[in-house]
Amino acid sequence: MQHIDKIYINGEFVTPHGSERFELFNPATEEIIGTVRLADEEDTRCAIAAAKAAFPAWSQTSKTQRIDVLKRMHAAIVEREAALREAIVTEYGAPVSRADWMATYPGDAILEAITTLEAFDFEVQAGSAQVVMTPVGVAGLITPWNSNAGFICNKLATAMAAGCTAVIKPSEMSAIQTQIVTEALHAAEIPAGVLNIVTGRGEVVGAEITRHPDIAKISFTGSTTVGKGIVAGGAATLKRVTLELGGKSPTVILDDAAVGQAVALALAAGFMNSGQACIAGTRILVPQSRLSEFEQAIALAVGEIQSGDPRDPATVIGPMVSRKQWERVQSYIRLGREEGATLLTGGEGRPAGMTKGWCVKPTVFTRANNQMRIAREEIFGPVLVLIPYEDEAQAVAIANDTTYGLSALVLSGDRARGQRVARQIDAGRVLVNTLIHEPKAPFGGLKQSGLGREMGRWGMEAYLEPKTLLVG
Ligand code: NAD
Repeated sequence: MQHIDKIYINGEFVTPHGSERFELFNPATEEIIGTVRLADEEDTRCAIAAAKAAFPAWSQTSKTQRIDVLKRMHAAIVEREAALREAIVTEYGAPVSRADWMATYPGDAILEAITTLEAFDFEVQAGSAQVVMTPVGVAGLITPWNSNAGFICNKLATAMAAGCTAVIKPSEMSAIQTQIVTEALHAAEIPAGVLNIVTGRGEVVGAEITRHPDIAKISFTGSTTVGKGIVAGGAATLKRVTLELGGKSPTVILDDAAVGQAVALALAAGFMNSGQACIAGTRILVPQSRLSEFEQAIALAVGEIQSGDPRDPATVIGPMVSRKQWERVQSYIRLGREEGATLLTGGEGRPAGMTKGWCVKPTVFTRANNQMRIAREEIFGPVLVLIPYEDEAQAVAIANDTTYGLSALVLSGDRARGQRVARQIDAGRVLVNTLIHEPKAPFGGLKQSGLGREMGRWGMEAYLEPKTLLVG
């Protein structure tokens, strides 16, 4: 049992004014594994004041000085990868196979920020003008529970590389991961006030960050509903915002795709992170002419996917993060039946033999149409819908008929055709016959999947304002 009692302000672990305690659960066993004392508005204001006071000095540091600090942060995080991996499995339920990647992502994200900073030009010429890229000010960084440690490090390293100071509001549900990250960053001897971490409720700490006049920019990863509230709440002080929100990403299987490879990639995209991924490919578009063939192959392949104990290396799908999330996924499975989709495999309840833990049976509906709620709303669990289409034009139309636009996958026997279709899909990122991730490329969503981009120079520019200098 771990009790987390401190928040991190101005280079010190301090006791929050807030006194509410939040219980942390192991979603695989339903046992309480710890508690975290939550910060309140006053704590948030203290953190913002510390970040504001640290900004003038940090914003004036040289590239070399920032790179030195970022390298220390990287080394300290890498030292704690094993502890992070353990926390990711215990408090979040990620299968060990997935947790390996999630534990290395925080360190990798800091390295990427260093690479971007090394190549970045803070001064460029525009005609007769000099354009100086100037850090925007104090950044408020708000993260969700899925991949909390990775998002903290990615946002923080980029903000610091740009010369901003930061107040981080991590998900209260991932407080053990946050504690490990905070201890690492403290050990890295970041100048006091550059980094402040305030764990608390969204409606309390997040809302204070959103409305506070001394926060210049917010980078938020989370649900579309909360993201819209942040835009509205930040409007009074015209905050700059970067939003990484939800998705309902299409996987378009073209009629020339080889069934074995297409099914393997479509299921890996759909069930990524136990279905709790913003980029999960949850709508699988299948040519009507090959629907039965794909239904059979998918039912067979899903039957072989192990769902359950995240500590078993063979497990692909672990538990949902909480009882609330489990119940939400169950209600969507019921809804799918009510809406008239055909249940191909899976269904309500826990996987066979499981009596506790928030595990869901990997579930696939077929013969669904794109107007059904199970095809339009983000479920955030291992529930996929197969939607038949008649021809390529209709496949593209269905893929684009969504309020989201985060990611898409196109599967084809012909790379050139795959690329041609990919260019017609409205998404921030379209993959063709692969699931590789390129951390140097911009990441973000179109439509209601977000605003702005993270990663690479696009991510850095989001923390900078171009200032034009003209000298007579
Ligand atoms: P969430 O929106 O409920 O919470 C995200 C964060 O916002 C948490 O720290 C929460 O405490 C805080 N928050 C809640 N209310 C707030 C308020 N009123 N003001 C300010 N902050 C507030 O999301 P979640 O359930 O933690 O995460 C799942 C969601 O995140 C999914 O919708 C998923 O698609 C999305 N997500 C997006 C990406 C991406 O890169 N696009 C990546 C991961 C997750």
